[in-house]
Amino acid sequence: MPVPVKEAPSTIGELEGVGERSARLLADLGIATLRDLLEYFPFRYDDLREPMPAARLRAAADESTGEVNALGRVVDVKERRVRSGIEIVEVRAEDDSGTFVAKWIGRHRYAIGRFHPGMRIFVRGRLVRSLIEPVVNVAHCRVLQDDEVYRGEMVPVYRASKDLPSRKIASVIRKNLSRLLKEAPEDVLPATIMRQRGFLPMADAYRMVHAPTTPESAARARERFVFGEFLVLATGAQLRRAQRMAEHDAAALSVPRELLEQLESSLPFALTAAQRRVIMEIWRDMSRDVPMNRLLQGDVGSGKTIVAAAAVLLAARCGHQAALMAPTEILAAQHIEKLGPLLLPFRINVEPILGSQTQRARQAAVDRLASGEATLAVGTHALLTEGVEFSRLGLTIIDEQHRFGVEHRARLRAKGGTPHTLHMTATPIPRTLAQSLYADLDESRLDEMPPGRRPVQTFAVRLGWLERVYTFVRAIVAGGGQGYVVAPAIEEGETGAMSALSEYERLRANVFPDLRLGLVHGRLPPREKDEVMRRFVRGQIDVLVATTVVEVGVDVPNAGVMVVLDAQRYGLAQLHQLRGRVGRGTAQSFCIFVYADDREEAQRLEILTKTNDGFAIAEADLEMRGAGEFAGTAQHGKAELRFGDLARDFAIYENARRVAETIIKEDAHIRRPEHAGLRAALDVTPALHALVASS
Ligand code: ADP
Ligand code: MG
Repeated sequence: MPVPVKEAPSTIGELEGVGERSARLLADLGIATLRDLLEYFPFRYDDLREPMPAARLRAAADESTGEVNALGRVVDVKERRVRSGIEIVEVRAEDDSGTFVAKWIGRHRYAIGRFHPGMRIFVRGRLVRSLIEPVVNVAHCRVLQDDEVYRGEMVPVYRASKDLPSRKIASVIRKNLSRLLKEAPEDVLPATIMRQRGFLPMADAYRMVHAPTTPESAARARERFVFGEFLVLATGAQLRRAQRMAEHDAAALSVPRELLEQLESSLPFALTAAQRRVIMEIWRDMSRDVPMNRLLQGDVGSGKTIVAAAAVLLAARCGHQAALMAPTEILAAQHIEKLGPLLLPFRINVEPILGSQTQRARQAAVDRLASGEATLAVGTHALLTEGVEFSRLGLTIIDEQHRFGVEHRARLRAKGGTPHTLHMTATPIPRTLAQSLYADLDESRLDEMPPGRRPVQTFAVRLGWLERVYTFVRAIVAGGGQGYVVAPAIEEGETGAMSALSEYERLRANVFPDLRLGLVHGRLPPREKDEVMRRFVRGQIDVLVATTVVEVGVDVPNAGVMVVLDAQRYGLAQLHQLRGRVGRGTAQSFCIFVYADDREEAQRLEILTKTNDGFAIAEADLEMRGAGEFAGTAQHGKAELRFGDLARDFAIYENARRVAETIIKEDAHIRRPEHAGLRAALDVTPALHALVASS
């Protein structure tokens, strides 16, 4: 009789050991497809291979706090129940070298009545110091058969959830690994490179990641995937760069000899050395027919506006128009306000293009841009709308570029052939990271503050001090200043983070009933948000309670104090950004980071109290927290990395980048058969697809 062919499962739910419920729980972890599951890598392994002799456990307890393995024969068992009904099970066991105690506390019902003298057990858990004998707080236990020779393995530990423990995920992957391997994507690593680098073939590497034999082989297997992922990233970036370098269709603007002097003499102060250097870098780019693609990074207050003005000035001198796009109306309005006076001496008018404009005003602006009568448009997304046309767009400036997707940028560029592009950001990014995230951008850094700025005085205090902090805020307001209070959450929720809404209510009712308070957060409709911000800018609000929506760009010189609640929840770079909201006027300003009472935060926050250098802070943050933080702010719209962390694995990135260079040198259009996998991975990004196809 023919055996009916069982159809291969095509969804998670049809895998062995996965019911409807676990399929849903897997989906909650972001695992929707078989490939997702295959690529769901353990974040660590428990090494159960070597039990430690009991005699050594005691010494180990003195030096380390990690987990240990122990194996022994049960000598006696104590079970007791303490107050509140918590059960404690203590099993004394011995091996040839001595004794140890395996201990279960509460929540381990399976341990009750399970152990008897004479049984052999294997346990793994955290060692606790004890006067009498070493104690292992058991996390993992196995009862051995009488004649069983213990053979431990490497247990993969996966990021799990309350209802879907790592153990379950591991078992699903183990049972279905061969099936999952059929879903592996095409290998992005060319075979020669795989061999040169001594990497395993892909299927073996997947096996080694999920069911490794040694920690070293697991690490090597993971490295293979990180390398592959970085190779795609680096190749993509280099293709984009190569493409740009081959486009000789930007206007090569010749820089008049006296232009810098003219600019400087129009200012009431001298440019900083950093401003001069960066302006020259930008002008040099603009003098070539290869379109500029440059990222200008500079902390808040470092003087980016003048640099932008200098770029506009050169374009205008050469008969070209410029467009500056900001992510919000308020930021666009601030640019208009600041650029206007800077460009006035050169008779360059700023033409606003804003969503809030009247139809009539908009039309007039649009007409002046189309005819070429107007030189500079400053606006929001409204700049991208149909009907906004330029007669000779030579330069686009994009402020806080991460707020705009790739396609937005492309649309703005499309409005005028191939303009030069300058991106500006107040978020300093560590150099190593910039090289990888922005591999197709050139980088300029304003790493010097204009003279005479008073650094913000910064303090870090425990939550217990909060009322004293508010007394201080009151004093600032009494002196005519304004203040911010920033909380991480909008409402109270599961995370237990302090909420802007509740703190606002509490301040209004109890702490500052006599002051003018405002509340702003990301769930307010944009118009309301803008309205609150506008009132704060005008000085009609004394204390603004907010979430991190106030992070970027808002400039209120009269704001003299910034209070950040639950500071332990933020990365250093983000705290520094928040601090940048104050210290913009002439008065001394203050920033107070308030952290939860039970946290040891003073040391981490110390760097913020000691330095104002955003680049130094970014480097420190990267070291402490990894690249994820930055990747989020830095690169919106780029597929997230599945395997690698640009900070932790930067050495691997460097290698991948070099390999990418060689590949492109030898196969500029990624057409060779051995590069098919790489090409397929590049094709996933539509923009890249177009690029590779057109080349
Ligand atoms: P950013 O946009 O980088 O936050 P701005 O361009 O708004 O900084 O400059 C901040 C302030 O510093 C402005 O008031 C500006 O006039 C002033 N400023 C800029 N460059 C200099 C300089 N070289 N010397 C003195 N003041 C400067
Ligand atoms: Mg600015």
